[in-house]
Amino acid sequence: MARSSTGSMGSIGSINICDCGKRAAMYTSWSLKNPGRRFFTCSEKADLRCEYFQWFDQEVDGRNGDVITHLNNRRIFLEEKIKLLEERIVILEAKIAKKKAKNRAMEKTVMISKIMICVFVALFAMLLMVCKSKGSSGWLELM
Ligand SMILES: [Zn+2]
Repeated sequence: MARSSTGSMGSIGSINICDCGKRAAMYTSWSLKNPGRRFFTCSEKADLRCEYFQWFDQEVDGRNGDVITHLNNRRIFLEEKIKLLEERIVILEAKIAKKKAKNRAMEKTVMISKIMICVFVALFAMLLMVCKSKGSSGWLELM
């Protein structure tokens, strides 16, 4: 039996006690020979686990086993795809954050440029008013 399995404490009426005297945990096998077949085994961590083992479900017949294996492989494929897409989302979010920071810096530069243009226009207007008040006919006379 392969060790690829998922576990949960059994809660199906009967209580199985392992060789340690503890309530056995129920797992689901995902091996090619026993896909989706549940079994009881010791609930201790791997290095402390006793040898207790008991199938809960009957042996899976060929066609059902093939279907379960196919669906499980499809699930694994989709989970890997989701993981890759989530990684891609993280990368894209980082790129968006970088672009937003760059845009903020650009907006700041544009704002400073607008302010400088306004200041120059105001200074030029004041210069023209000074020229007119002195009665000069052109701004070249100031030089
Ligand atoms: Zn045990």
